[in-house]
Amino acid sequence: MISKRAKKVKPSATLSIDTKAKEMKAAGIDVISFAVGEPDFDTPDNIKAAAIKAINEGFTKYTPVGGIPELKNAIAAKLQKDNGLDYKPNEILVSVGAKHSLYNAAQALYSEGDEVIIPAPYWVSYPDQTLLNDAAPVIVETREEDLFVVSPDQLSKAVTKKTKAIVLNYPSNPTGFTYDRKALEAIAEIAVKNNIYVISDEIYEMLLYDGLKHVSIASIDPEIKKRTIVINGFSKSYAMTGWRIGYAAGDAAVIKAMENIQSQSTSNPTSISQKAALEAVNGPQDFIPVMLTEFDKRRKYLVAELNAIDGVSCKMPQGAFYAFANIKAYLGKKSPNMEIADSSAMALYLLEEAAVALVPGSAFGAEGYIRMSYATSMEKITEGLKRLKSALQKLA
Ligand SMILES: *Cc1c(COP(=O)(O)O)cnc(C)c1O
Repeated sequence: MISKRAKKVKPSATLSIDTKAKEMKAAGIDVISFAVGEPDFDTPDNIKAAAIKAINEGFTKYTPVGGIPELKNAIAAKLQKDNGLDYKPNEILVSVGAKHSLYNAAQALYSEGDEVIIPAPYWVSYPDQTLLNDAAPVIVETREEDLFVVSPDQLSKAVTKKTKAIVLNYPSNPTGFTYDRKALEAIAEIAVKNNIYVISDEIYEMLLYDGLKHVSIASIDPEIKKRTIVINGFSKSYAMTGWRIGYAAGDAAVIKAMENIQSQSTSNPTSISQKAALEAVNGPQDFIPVMLTEFDKRRKYLVAELNAIDGVSCKMPQGAFYAFANIKAYLGKKSPNMEIADSSAMALYLLEEAAVALVPGSAFGAEGYIRMSYATSMEKITEGLKRLKSALQKLA
């Protein structure tokens, strides 16, 4: 039967709720989904055109495993320009999405007996990818009053001799909060002192509001840069989730190990998608501020409306496209059919009672919260909020 390894993992919770919502939709139910983890914008036309051109020109064969040189060079230039980071092409690996980059990093770095510190709320795949690679996730719960950012004190307490890495994601999915330079400096100091790697998932770097500027932990000093694997990709910034292109940048020896693993599993990411990604980094960037302005409007509206609902509170997120709302006041309440024992019961209740899909905080290791994506239209947000409010009012 199936392996011990396969038994350790569960399906991605965010994807499975989305699947259930899609099934209800297919059955004719008008579901409003706040569960999606991808921009509701179409991939820009210049990017699509680059892919079509690649097909027409016959660019449809194997490429070098770690990505075509033009794309690696373009990514290196981007890292220099946006993040002040100097990486050579042999310090960059292009993969089948950022999730694949994260997985390659876990494969290349973790061994049995290693501990990996994961601040919660975390992105759903970090603990499972750690388990799949024989290491032990060490979950550190952050506090809402700290804007879900791990404190140096919490981090120091979690470090042991077995600590191999810490996984950071900023701006964060699910909370929408980010780390500023000062917070990153404190973490970098602890990581360098204890010689631990930082897996730095920066996939939402372009999606920051109110003029906030993203800082990569790798840019703090050369010591932390050596120990950081920067993870990024095209899915979120360029609305390219289906194209599957992400990348990692880091120490050449680690990147080489990741490339070897990739060469024995997927080989190169899709040739056509690589040409599309090349156009995304090199072409006009005006799509991003347009998308950001729209997200910003929805962010302010959604969060204000959530805070106007009795028993719901939500801090204003700084980035990404998620609101992480506190619903603790409703836990223990009842509907005629069920008790709202936890966030996952709440998500089920809202799906069944109001045809509103969202993701329970428990999926991200944080009980008492719900994650609502605002990568959906203003009309849907308005209607969804109306339904949410009336379903919550029925609980006693
Ligand atoms: C969407 C997402 C990813 C994965 O992105 P892909 O490039 O599509 O694989 C990785 N990390 C976080 C936090 C995400 O939200």
